[in-house]
Amino acid sequence: MTQLKQWQHADAAHHLHPFTNQAEINKTGTRVISHAEGAYIYEADGHKLLDGMSGLWCCNLGYTQPKINQAIAEQLQELPYYNTFFQCTHPRATELAEAISQRAPAHMNRVFYTNSGSEANDSAIRMIHRYWDALGQPQRKAIIARDNAYHGSTIGGASLGGMAFMHKQFTPLENIHHIAQPYWYGANADISPDEFGLQAAQELEKKIQELGENNVAAFFAEPIQGAGGVIIPPQSYWPEIQRICDQYSILLVVDEVIFGFGRTGHWFASECYGLTPDFIVFAKAVTNGFQPLGGLLISDRVSKALLSHTDDLAHGFTYSGHPVACAAALATLDILSDGYIDKVRIELSQAMEDYWLALGEHPLVGEARCKGFVGALELVKDKSSRKRFDKNGKAGALCRDASLQSGLVMRATGDTMIIAPPFILDRSDVKDLTEKAWQALDITL
Ligand code: PLP
Repeated sequence: MTQLKQWQHADAAHHLHPFTNQAEINKTGTRVISHAEGAYIYEADGHKLLDGMSGLWCCNLGYTQPKINQAIAEQLQELPYYNTFFQCTHPRATELAEAISQRAPAHMNRVFYTNSGSEANDSAIRMIHRYWDALGQPQRKAIIARDNAYHGSTIGGASLGGMAFMHKQFTPLENIHHIAQPYWYGANADISPDEFGLQAAQELEKKIQELGENNVAAFFAEPIQGAGGVIIPPQSYWPEIQRICDQYSILLVVDEVIFGFGRTGHWFASECYGLTPDFIVFAKAVTNGFQPLGGLLISDRVSKALLSHTDDLAHGFTYSGHPVACAAALATLDILSDGYIDKVRIELSQAMEDYWLALGEHPLVGEARCKGFVGALELVKDKSSRKRFDKNGKAGALCRDASLQSGLVMRATGDTMIIAPPFILDRSDVKDLTEKAWQALDITL
């Protein structure tokens, strides 16, 4: 048996995969990714792929970053583990909290650490309850989120999320309510994107009024829905959401697990949309995906309320602020600070507009869209009527496989193809990526 077959055999026998149809891979064999370099990953059989998804939206600086590796190795020598519980800290957790705060919107100056984005969203729910308790309004427990959102896979994260297929597999938490996503193309609306965006935002106000404004604690949203298909809101959407949150004193939680640390060409997408969140949820790219780390950036007004409690905060994780993960994050922030944020905002955003949007000309593509260094293609049966394929997901799966054949990792969510490539690409790489995507669309057709 070849080494590859041995891995596949052991995998089928012993490994339960997340977000995978296990019955299907047991028939076809798992794809084994054995090594990576720069923006490329390699399958164990040698097949080379341009990673258009930066892993799972996390290796934004690609796979070869010796400075991060060195920081990890040095930290393992110096202090491989200590916790941040019970009045303790360690240098890296402290330095990183300061470094993140310095890059955050000016009113956000405190960080709570978790290991992942899901835990960070769960933690946000806990902090929100504590905030309203501090303000003497403990009845404010209702949370509003959006259809088709992804906020993680813990019970809290998945309850906040709005994906019906996930909710079917467990019993979501009570008192989390969902409003529509600002998905102009998908709604096939006959009004302008801005009118549509305004109406979508005003659903929040209607929901607050329905639940009773003194019962609503917070609104959770991704700045751009990522896993839901890169749903870029119309320009009118976020200012109206901010107005509504301000008017009703609802806490605004912006889940930047995908967009934080540069994806829109700003440190945080909240800046790009002019938002003043109470929490920014982060994870993934903070360590370039090299170590698990997530957390919450907390606004000064929320910090003040949280610190007004005189009892212990009864919440935390053994690995909150793990020193090795914090060391990886500090090195990542250092590298990102060396021109990458500007590169995304100026060079790569322009390359996406020039090359990626041109994929909209392909007969299979109903809409090509991009923002910063993220993009999506909507596959349709008929462009002019925006008619979808009968079985949602079939064309997407075919295109994903065709893309692998063409040497590119694109992700399919239903019949929407998405990409979020590493910032180490340049304009000519984006052209190359787009040519591979076109080839994949041709094969799919
Ligand atoms: N929030 C968003 C917006 C995400 O995209 C994800 C993961 O993709 C999460 C939360 C969950 O993060 P994690 O997988 O680190 O728990």
